[in-house]
Amino acid sequence: MVKVPVNLNRSGRQVMPTDQAPEGATSPDAKPVLQFTAKRRGKAPSHLADLDLSGRKQVLKDAGLPAFRADQLSRHYFGNYVADPAQMSDLPKNMVDQVRDSLMPTLVKPVRTLEADGGLTIKHLWELFDGSRVESVLMRYPQRTTLCISSQAGCGMACPFCATGQMGLTRNLSTAEIVEQVRLAAKACEDGDLEGGPTRLSNIVFMGMGEPLANYKAIVETLDRLIKESPEGFGLSARNITVSTVGLVPAIDKLAKLGHPVTLAISLHAPDDELRDELIPINSRWKVGELLDAARRYFVATGRRVSIEYALIRDMNDHAWRAQLLADELNKRGHGWAHVNPIPLNPTPGSIWTASTKKAQQEFVEILRKNGISTTIRDTRGSDIDGACGQLATTVAKEEEAK
Ligand code: SF4
Repeated sequence: MVKVPVNLNRSGRQVMPTDQAPEGATSPDAKPVLQFTAKRRGKAPSHLADLDLSGRKQVLKDAGLPAFRADQLSRHYFGNYVADPAQMSDLPKNMVDQVRDSLMPTLVKPVRTLEADGGLTIKHLWELFDGSRVESVLMRYPQRTTLCISSQAGCGMACPFCATGQMGLTRNLSTAEIVEQVRLAAKACEDGDLEGGPTRLSNIVFMGMGEPLANYKAIVETLDRLIKESPEGFGLSARNITVSTVGLVPAIDKLAKLGHPVTLAISLHAPDDELRDELIPINSRWKVGELLDAARRYFVATGRRVSIEYALIRDMNDHAWRAQLLADELNKRGHGWAHVNPIPLNPTPGSIWTASTKKAQQEFVEILRKNGISTTIRDTRGSDIDGACGQLATTVAKEEEAK
């Protein structure tokens, strides 16, 4: 094989995120604005999945119902994925309404469902009690079935390449609103909604709408419901759960202290502060170095290799010197603690947010591997159905506006 000389000088074309208005921006001079406070203050109705088993018992007691029913209801919910008390044949008919009101209100309703990849991918748009909308994507692979879930309605992190980021933060989802996305997916798997017949939901990734660690309390409670066995929770393996973040350093450290062996995924997308300050606005608070230090601490605390997500964007972050800088930044913190997932963007002619050339992708991956960094190009499922987070919600909102 003839080796092509790699240009490690900081030369070559440099496209910056500010060369174009953010994705989905309504005016050409719109600027990404970080937002930490939700626009809506309303809270979702309280639900069984918000509470641990003793909390569920207490709610039933307060409603004048026998506490032992908490166990029975929880087994229906977490073991059989049934959320409607009317469908529980062992629940006395005269208790159905009271149980629904006190513990099992409907939290999530389907607005639209789209299929892709020959039925192996299903994307759902859900409506919540206050009209907020969120998305989840269910993907079947040969060895696993993965659900990508949303943790917030909208997002306050304002990443300029992301449709959700331009909506701003509507509100945090409650624990039960996040858990409901999982229950509905587990039920869809069991019912054989995905091509290939019935299967088991095995993996969860917090990579849908929202920054999970900005809704920290609900995420921690959700992890509890996902990992604990029925009747406490679904009994999913913590090793099959991935929490992603753009870099909320103090929350990464808090999560590390919990000691769950869940995978942490860092949406890095740039190894240098100059670019990352514009690409991921939260970088103005916590710089690349601080973020990678926290990621390394997470690895030390949990023993779980950290995933570094890196969307390859043509002439913006895909330069050979950036691949080398990324490898150096990872290697100077130790070896074998991080795994890089370059993600090819969809080609979008005329936009600055477009795919790297095949040659640039290959070169980027080769440099990382040559430097001993394990690297896998990530699959981009569902890209033909508004795959990136927030795109389906935005498309549907526009259609409704036009009616
Ligand atoms: S990429 Fe993720 S963190 Fe950034 S704005 Fe979109 S949803 Fe939020």
